Amino acid sequence: MTRSKIVSDKQPEARQIPFYQPSITEREIRAVVQTLRSGWLTTGPKTKKFEKRFARYVGAKHAVALNSCTAGLHLALVASGVGPGDEVIVPTYTFAASAETVIHAGAKPVLVDSESDTLNLSVAEVEKEISPRTKAVVAVDIAGLPCDYAALQPVVKKQGIHLIDDAAHALGASYDGRMVGTLADLTAFSFYATKNLTTGEGGMVTTDNQELAEKISLLSLHGMSRDAWKRYRTGGSWYYELLDAGFKYNFTDLQAALGLPQLARLRTLQAQRRALATLYDRELGDLPEVRLPAQKKGRVHAWHLYIIRLRLEQLKIDRNQFIHELTRRRIGTAVHFIPLHLHPYYRERYGYQPEDFPVAHDNYQRAITLPLYPRMTRAMVCYVAGAVREIVQKYRHRGRG
Ligand SMILES: *Cc1c(COP(=O)(O)O)cnc(C)c1O
Repeated sequence: MTRSKIVSDKQPEARQIPFYQPSITEREIRAVVQTLRSGWLTTGPKTKKFEKRFARYVGAKHAVALNSCTAGLHLALVASGVGPGDEVIVPTYTFAASAETVIHAGAKPVLVDSESDTLNLSVAEVEKEISPRTKAVVAVDIAGLPCDYAALQPVVKKQGIHLIDDAAHALGASYDGRMVGTLADLTAFSFYATKNLTTGEGGMVTTDNQELAEKISLLSLHGMSRDAWKRYRTGGSWYYELLDAGFKYNFTDLQAALGLPQLARLRTLQAQRRALATLYDRELGDLPEVRLPAQKKGRVHAWHLYIIRLRLEQLKIDRNQFIHELTRRRIGTAVHFIPLHLHPYYRERYGYQPEDFPVAHDNYQRAITLPLYPRMTRAMVCYVAGAVREIVQKYRHRGRG
């Protein structure tokens, strides 16, 4: 019985759609191997080159490579002077990193609700929460759709505080012709395995402010007065001074070896994502039970995630059962995000209740992220969309249901 089960499992396997598969070329593999042979593995010339090209790509004056976006957010906050007694406004509808870094900086995250169409933080809610203790606002471009920067920028400017963009999803996005990476005082990107550009793990902070860039660069490697790679290269000096109690957040040349060719084909990767998202829109557009991802005039979406929301009133099953049906059809999905205020740590430490942020709470119950990545074929997208249609048709309310 066991044996026949294995054999019969084989066929559907062929139509399995994983939630994510990275896109890595042979050229990228060769670049990493060459770096291994080069004798220089950690932060060095390739990292510097990657920073320069990345800054040019987004149109920012400075880019500092780090070992994660989380490290980038932390250092963006520290460089902004955020510390004990301060508050930082963060949307509840986001990943852990956007708020935990505020806590690591010694400050208090003040959560706010989202806009129901975009899932991005609501600027009206930000304005309500601003107090004399507010030191910064962290905006998150959910799924890759830029926040409402035209509304957000004057609010932080009036307050004289920093706007920090958690752009983990938004590499390649733009707002009114300006790339994400130039829309806030500091922007943090992620090169985690599933993100639009990957170096396995990694991150980048961009800014036009030289002082902030230098501070972040210094803090990223123990607060040492000169980069280690300059000390150890031929003719480098052994001498250094500690100018701060820094961190160990530096990026490596092994990562840069992967990042450089990934950046060179980012436009192609983004075009592939966009084409697949358009195909999803077309295949799902006539289902009233499914709300498609929002798009906004003047904003270019990075299509990191394709998040649909179920109109639960029109269905006999809930989101979890819907995901179960997709899993049975061998389709990998995820939920972005469980709002921070629903997690035990935030509930217990800050006393949040589920109904404190009704928009985030409601959307969380409806959200499903469908697979979307450049290695997907059009047939794979059609298979996923077809499965969504089949489930909707099976469980939709007819008349009184
Ligand atoms: C992935 C992600 C991060 C963290 O990125 P790392 O590079 O893994 O630190 C931060 N914020 C959001 C919204 C993310 O999705």
